[in-house]
Amino acid sequence: MQIKESSEVYDVIIVGSGAGGGMATKQLADAGFNVAVVEAGPFFDPADPKTMTQLKWPYESPRRGAGTDRAFGEWDMSWGDWEVEGEPYTQAEGSDFRWWRARMLGGRTNHWGRISLRFGPKDFKHKDVDGLGENWPISYDDVKPYYDKVDKLIGVFGTNEGMENDPDGYFLPPPKPRLHELFYIQGAKKTGIPVIPSRMSMLTKRINKDRGVCFYCGQCGRSCSVYADFSAGSCLIFPAQKSGGKVRIYVNSMVREVTVNEEGKATGVSYINKEDRKEYKLKAKIVVLAASACSSARILLNSKGKQHPNGLGNSSDVVGKYLHDSTGASAAGFIPGLMNRDVSYNEDGVGGMHVYSPWWGDNKNLDFPRGYHIEVWGGMGQPNYGFGFNANAFNEFFNLPVGGYGDSLRDDVKKYYGSVIGFGGRGESIARKR
Ligand SMILES: Cc1cc2nc3c(=O)[nH]c(=O)nc-3n(C[C@H](O)[C@H](O)[C@H](O)COP(=O)(O)OP(=O)(O)OC[C@H]3O[C@@H](n4cnc5c(N)ncnc54)[C@H](O)[C@@H]3O)c2cc1C
Ligand code: SF4
Repeated sequence: MQIKESSEVYDVIIVGSGAGGGMATKQLADAGFNVAVVEAGPFFDPADPKTMTQLKWPYESPRRGAGTDRAFGEWDMSWGDWEVEGEPYTQAEGSDFRWWRARMLGGRTNHWGRISLRFGPKDFKHKDVDGLGENWPISYDDVKPYYDKVDKLIGVFGTNEGMENDPDGYFLPPPKPRLHELFYIQGAKKTGIPVIPSRMSMLTKRINKDRGVCFYCGQCGRSCSVYADFSAGSCLIFPAQKSGGKVRIYVNSMVREVTVNEEGKATGVSYINKEDRKEYKLKAKIVVLAASACSSARILLNSKGKQHPNGLGNSSDVVGKYLHDSTGASAAGFIPGLMNRDVSYNEDGVGGMHVYSPWWGDNKNLDFPRGYHIEVWGGMGQPNYGFGFNANAFNEFFNLPVGGYGDSLRDDVKKYYGSVIGFGGRGESIARKR
């Protein structure tokens, strides 16, 4: 098969256009480099009226917004899934690791939660604190200047609280807590659980002329047509195209391997164009792999050569091993005081929580050392397909005579809507028997 090879030699090829690839593109283009971004998914611009779903009502869809080919519902802007057509994935025996893959310009940043937290000083040197795991070879102080730059570049709201391991930053004003969040604050205070305004990347104030300000539609998961949320396409790649260097974007282009010269040094990439199914080669002085942790590992393992029979950068044989996902669990509670809510006012906000509980419960005597943080959800957001709660679940979990069908169901939905608060715990679990 003939492989088409481009004659142009880019300064840098960046594989993937998500959080990592987007930031590399912006920094390198701003510095005047000639950059090629090679992305496996299609082009996506949240402001494109052809794809925009941000302000659609569920009744505008024959499926009322229920999931089709999108894992999080029809209106959600997640092009990708745990299963991706044409990209087989199998699990090793005994493993239950489900691999979420985003496939679009901007990667997972189009539908991520936009919770934008820093690691704290203890996170870098946690072995010194509890004797578990290993310390990082760098410290918080090494990374702090970059966290500061990112806060200013992308725009993060929050508050400076002076907490030891939840460092202060450069924050925009946070939105006010809503009723369910006020209930949460009250309960958390009673039980001694910390609670502070959340830290998320939606613009509550204008930071530049290219991006709008959040108007509290509550639908960040559908992507923001005014670019008020952070996503790599609208906040990094598109601005990079306007800055000093040249940025050429190759979409629907699945990189297979990094090509190397006789000395084993990277010379470019080889990719399959998913539209014509042909193989192409691009050349560059430097290749940045930012195709997400697992995909970057896969490309390295695919890149076998004389100097690296085990895959590129894999002389230690650990590429693709010892990966750790962030783990979570969730629970929900019914608050009788939130029943029969007044529905005549709008309490939408940013597309996510306005308050949260920062990392707490760091105690190695627990069977999950290092604790967790709590993400809070609830309130009176726009009902979607499968919205908020299943009225019949009230029978099951709370032994309340709720639901049925027809008028009684409608009455109960109105009565109970907004009376459930959810808590998502997200933590770092360190296996104690290593
Ligand atoms: C639903 C959800 C909610 C999340 N919420 C949060 C949150 O609130 N806060 C937080 O900090 N993190 C959150 N995350 C995690 C966060 O989104 C990721 O950690 C981050 O996007 C990783 O950036 P990345 O650049 O490594 O990968 P990605 O953003 O996934 O980008 C990788 C890109 O590479 C492309 N690619 C892959 N393979 C190839 C290939 N072979 N050739 C060419 N291109 C390729 C992909 O198509 C993709 O566009 C969330 C993730 C999900 C899925
Ligand atoms: S809540 Fe704000 S940032 Fe999110 S999509 Fe709506 S306007 Fe944009």
